[in-house]
Amino acid sequence: MIKFKIILLGDEGVGKTSLIKKYGGFVGPEYGKVIGVDFGHKRIEINNMLVWLQFCKVNQDPRFKYLRPLYYREAMAVLFLYDITRPETFEHLPNLITSVSEDTPKMIKFILIGNKADLEEHRAVEREIAEKFSKTYPNFVLFEEISIKTGRNIHKLFESLARLLLKL
Ligand code: GDP
Ligand code: MG
Repeated sequence: MIKFKIILLGDEGVGKTSLIKKYGGFVGPEYGKVIGVDFGHKRIEINNMLVWLQFCKVNQDPRFKYLRPLYYREAMAVLFLYDITRPETFEHLPNLITSVSEDTPKMIKFILIGNKADLEEHRAVEREIAEKFSKTYPNFVLFEEISIKTGRNIHKLFESLARLLLKL
């Protein structure tokens, strides 16, 4: 089995915990909360290969500043989540991207994810603007709008992610 470690980032309330709880299978361990890290796993099969995606949610609280690089280590991809109904969650991304870029390898893959796509009537971030934004950074390899609530594009996201990491 091939394992990939993936970091989940984004403002409070964008859906990080929901993604791990609903689609990440196992959630644990309790001590994770204390050190500012949450874990979850997703197993998917591609071309008869079993791929194990390990999700790791890293707290951005300044208290954990010196621990963060430890958790970024060996990560193959960073998922940046924002909420399509709350523009500030999108506007905070450049700072977050800059900070993460300092702590991660140059070649790491970034993925931009607009969550809560089920709330179309409250949309405040246009799809095209977000996609364009992601293309201004060389590390972004994927952009997707999802709904953790309805499951829209979730499977597609995990599959694209695994394929990207396997370089298929
Ligand atoms: P976190 O702070 O990033 O971990 O965000 P949470 O996972 O705690 O989610 C914050 C809130 O958004 C919760 O009330 C979730 O139920 C809700 N939420 C998460 N994903 C979706 C979604 O796709 N659609 C809608 N409508 N609500 C969502
Ligand atoms: Mg949370």
